[in-house]
Amino acid sequence: MRYVRYGLGILAFALLVFISWLTLTPAPQGILVLEYHHICDEIGEDGAAYAVPVADFSQQLDYLQAEGYTTITMQDYMRAKKGKQELPAKPVILTFDDGYEDNYTTLLPLLEERGMKGTVYMITNSIGRKGYLSWNQLREMQERGIEIGSHTANHQPLTTLDREKQAEEMKLSKLLMEWNGLKTIFTFSYPNGAYDEEMPAMLKENEYLTAVTGDGGLNTFQTNPYLLQRINIPRPHLGMTEFKLRLFKAEALTKLGIRQHLLKE
Ligand SMILES: [Zn+2]
Repeated sequence: MRYVRYGLGILAFALLVFISWLTLTPAPQGILVLEYHHICDEIGEDGAAYAVPVADFSQQLDYLQAEGYTTITMQDYMRAKKGKQELPAKPVILTFDDGYEDNYTTLLPLLEERGMKGTVYMITNSIGRKGYLSWNQLREMQERGIEIGSHTANHQPLTTLDREKQAEEMKLSKLLMEWNGLKTIFTFSYPNGAYDEEMPAMLKENEYLTAVTGDGGLNTFQTNPYLLQRINIPRPHLGMTEFKLRLFKAEALTKLGIRQHLLKE
């Protein structure tokens, strides 16, 4: 019995040391990338979980600024990686998948009010459809400093397609946007975060420079630029506490050296 108590004592002590290490050691230096979709109060039947209400989103932006974060784009990240530009002390990249119309009507003014940047990943066959951004809105957003990337042409998880079809999704979505007057598209977002080990080389061949996954964690210049990690920010149930916990999760995974690979269906 005494040994059991002794054992439990050691275990509790080890746990305490571990938790202290996780919470008290300085946050790892890294580039935080956040993943959003809709920014809106009205919730449609689909995508409800991915719609962050305006008040919550505004609070999150204000919190990031108060904590000393500065928004950068994927282009800033790549230029800094090549030594052509300095990064701010606490860089964050705000990304928005799918290209919903509220990214123009709601998100853009919220970012501009605060002098913040963002990256929007388009499903190119949805451009101009109801609820999605139009070509004119996209061109204007790019003019106003928003970075535009590809989220494929059809939003099918690439792991469900054959190689030829995967390459087509990468290539055609990029070309379509460039043909329609957008500046060079060089960043990519995997639909549903689904990728495999051959896709980084395929993206490179198709002249992309970076790609984002749904794997949680922070990035450094050593992270494979085609497998950048992101922290997903869905509709919060616990307000700012949940947001802070999600940022903490990124730090904790990075400290523990854990790479989450979520092959979502
Ligand atoms: Zn998506």
